[in-house]
This record gives sequence, C-alpha cells and structure tokens, in this order.
Amino acid sequence: VDLEPPVLLDFGSGTLHRLARLGGPLDRIGAVLVSHLHPDHYADLLGYLHSQLRLEEGRGPLRIYGPPGIAEAVDHLRASTPSLAELPFELRVTTVHREPFEVAGARVTPFEVVHSKRLTALGYRLAVGGRVLVYSGDSTVCPALERGCAGADGAILEATFPPGRAHPSHMDGAEACALAGRAGVRRLLLSHLSPAWGMADPAAACAGLFGGELRAAADLASFEL
Ligand SMILES: [Zn+2]
Ligand SMILES: [Zn+2]
Repeated sequence: VDLEPPVLLDFGSGTLHRLARLGGPLDRIGAVLVSHLHPDHYADLLGYLHSQLRLEEGRGPLRIYGPPGIAEAVDHLRASTPSLAELPFELRVTTVHREPFEVAGARVTPFEVVHSKRLTALGYRLAVGGRVLVYSGDSTVCPALERGCAGADGAILEATFPPGRAHPSHMDGAEACALAGRAGVRRLLLSHLSPAWGMADPAAACAGLFGGELRAAADLASFEL
C-alpha cells in the first residue's frame, strides 16, 4: 500500500539523514504523524523544515499531526531558527487526540497509550485500501494499544528492550509479541530497538513468541503490507 503523498510516522533524531540516504525527493513528504514529544520522535522536524526553504520548484503543503503540545513544539522549533519565521510553503499543524481524520487517502485513528506521566503519547491506526497498519509510538502494554491493534494486517510496535527486561514506560520484545498475538495482528515489525539488545537479532530472540510473521526494523529496510 502506498500513501500519496508519503506520510512519515514520527520524525525523530537521525531520520532526516536516513531519508537522504534513500535518495528520494524529500519534498514529496506530505504529512508527519508525531506520536509524542520526546526528541527521538520529532527532533528532525527542525532540520527538515530548514531543508524545505530553498527548493527551486517550491513544494506542496506539509501537514503535521500530533498530541496536545505539538503546535507549541513546532512553534518553538521555528522560533529557535530565524530563517524559519517565514515559510515559502503551507505548514498546517493539527492537534489530534482520539478523533479520526483523513490523510493521504488513509483513515487515521489516533489512540492514547501509556508511556510517560509527563506527556500524552499516541499510537496511530491507519486504514487504507482495505488494509490496516498500526504504529504504537512509545508505549507500555496497555488496553488502548491492544484495542488499537485489533485485527491489524500489520503493526509496528516498540520493543525497546529484549525479553525479560520489563520497564515502566516501554515494552520488551516478549510483551510486544504477546500483545500483538492477543490482538490478532498478522504481521509484526519490532521497532524502537535500544542498545540493550546488543548484537542480538530481535526477530530471532523472539522466535516462537508471535504466531504471525515477525520481523525487526532496520535502517533503510522496507516492508510490504
Ligand atoms: Zn518516548
Ligand atoms: Zn522513543
């Protein structure tokens, strides 16, 4: 399933560099769904906005969706960099919480997950072309995430730690696999993998913990839904 224009799920530190390595035109990105306001999920918006200032052809509108606080966060990023005061393209920032909305032909349903006491963290359920993809953002095991994943064709779930390393604000690989299994997810991509995994291959470490197709995210890798 292709979304047109392309949509990013979060824009954390390192993402801009990786996107540049992919070689595609960065100005095609039409929307960013921000899960929560930790820098590993939105910090590269700053560099991205700056990269979009002097395009010969200009660019279409950019839409940013995120939890309460997203508008202030984008304002702060822009205020930190004088050249971002005026943008030569349309930027629309929309605060979302639970109400579904449409982006790039997809029906997107945000849902609030349990991650940090200090901020609202969202997961996103995207329905497009008869397929459903769910992105957890950062989350612990919680009923909202399990409901959000119900029957999904694919889920990108955070698995910050290897199995057996339960944590108050993240999942480990075993928890992500079990949650996806209970929710009836068909394909599971483990993401947000921390250095605690060491050299372990998360998909191999979690083999047998999930009944569907299980893979681990890797830089520049692509996955068909
Ligand atoms: Zn976080
Ligand atoms: Zn994170």
